[in-house]
This record gives sequence, C-alpha cells and structure tokens, in this order.
Amino acid sequence: MIIKSRTNIKAIVSELENMKSEVDPNRINELEEEIKRIKYGSKSEDDSAYLINFHYDNDRYAIIHDLRIVYNKEKSNQVAQIDHLVINRALQCFVFETKSVFGKLEINKEGEFIKYFEDKPFGIESPIEQNNRHIDVLRKYIDEKEELVPRSFGRKLKIDYRSVILISRSAIIKRPFRFIFDTSMLIKDDMVKTYLNKFDKVNKNSFNEKQLRKFAEKLAKEHQPIKINYRKRFGLDKEQSCDECSASINERVMQYCLERPERFGDRVYCMKCQKKYQVTS
Ligand SMILES: [Zn+2]
Repeated sequence: MIIKSRTNIKAIVSELENMKSEVDPNRINELEEEIKRIKYGSKSEDDSAYLINFHYDNDRYAIIHDLRIVYNKEKSNQVAQIDHLVINRALQCFVFETKSVFGKLEINKEGEFIKYFEDKPFGIESPIEQNNRHIDVLRKYIDEKEELVPRSFGRKLKIDYRSVILISRSAIIKRPFRFIFDTSMLIKDDMVKTYLNKFDKVNKNSFNEKQLRKFAEKLAKEHQPIKINYRKRFGLDKEQSCDECSASINERVMQYCLERPERFGDRVYCMKCQKKYQVTS
C-alpha cells in the first residue's frame, strides 16, 4: 500500500519557468540549470519509485516516498531527507537512498566514494554514511515521540532499520571485497526485489495490515516539506531595508513603521534606527 506518493515537481518547475521572463538576463542560465537539476533528480527517483511500487504495493508492505523528518534537539535541527521507505509487517523498515550515477562509480577499500566524469575522478560524499545518518535521525525521532512508537497489545515493538542504497542501473560499480569493506547494501535499483528477499521476514508478522497502515500513516504525517523561496534566490523578491542604515528588515518591522506616520513620516527603519525617532510629548 502506498501511504505517500512522490512529491510532484510540476508546480515548482512551472514556477521557475514563469520566472524566466522576470529574472535578470545574466541569471537565465543559472535558472535553467536549476530546472534541469530538479527534473533530472526527479527522473531517477521516479524510476526507483516505480520499481518499489511495482514490487511492494500490496497489503504486506507500506510505502512512503519522500519523507523529510526534522528532529529538534537542544535547538539544533537534524534533518533526514528519506527518498523511499518500505515497511513490512515484521516491522522491518527499509530506508532507501537513491543516487543517480552515469558511468563509473568506485568505492575504495577505505569506503571512500569516487565518481568518474569523462575519465576524471571526483570524490563524493559516501551515500552509505549519509543514509546511516538519516536512519539515526528517524530512529531518535520515533523513539522520542510516544504516539509514533509501534505497539501491539500495549507492548512496545522494536523496529529493525535497514539501509539500502540504490544506484542507477546503467552505472558501472567497482567495489572492494566484502570482508575488507562491506558495500552489500549498495545495489543497482533493478535488483531491489532480489536484494530485499534476503532479509524480508515475510512470515514473522508483528502487525496486521490495519496496524501497519495506521503506523505508516502516522509517520507520513510527520513529513515537513522544505520550502525554497526561489523568487528570493533569483533576486526577484526585493527585501525591504532600513531607510537610514540599509539593514534588511522583516515585514513586521516594516508594518510597524508604516502604521506610525506621525513618528516615522512614511519611512521604514530598522529597530535600532527607530530609537532615533522617538515620539516626544
Ligand atoms: Zn537602520
């Protein structure tokens, strides 16, 4: 069962397309690159989402695509941006990270990742480590939110988290022997079923279909979508600034000044400069 589908990028792409007529001509290329990047990233995730849905859209599994969890601890936020999540009734939770790779990908015996572009090597962040951090955030988030902790007859159940890294099927992967550095959780996306079959405890159910659905729906509700202000990023949202010192000011501060023409004379000032315009008498 699909609990949450992939985020539709159509609205974002059309917003960006519409900005083309307004944006500074020097930044058109940058804008077009951004559109391309979004479309390309979405395409490879669509491919893996398709395969995951194809194999697991049935009553034994819950599927959540695009889950962004923000774990707030001591005023610092830790974010897990999870590409896909597949949870079975044995409460095994497969956390997927997708990486689109064209050409060669090499993992050396230290576990470092090297991508090749036109035969030139580039170091990239380890998706294994990245996904482990996502799992860590997800685990802490669920553990500390009482209503999310899975239960059966009042008894707390343990979730078995498993990392899976999906690489584009056209990539060529060079990796070390497993006993030197284990990369077995990194697979081509078309191998997803074969790989998961090795771990999938299909007959050890902790949940029935209804319980699984309820658990996954609660989790999907915790999704916090990221909002990028593209208008601001491409210089179309002119920020208000103080008429005296040009410091940027927010809308609330601007409003405060405009509501007091007798004091500020229809001008806007930052909070520091406002003090110079005290109302006497
Ligand atoms: Zn000022």
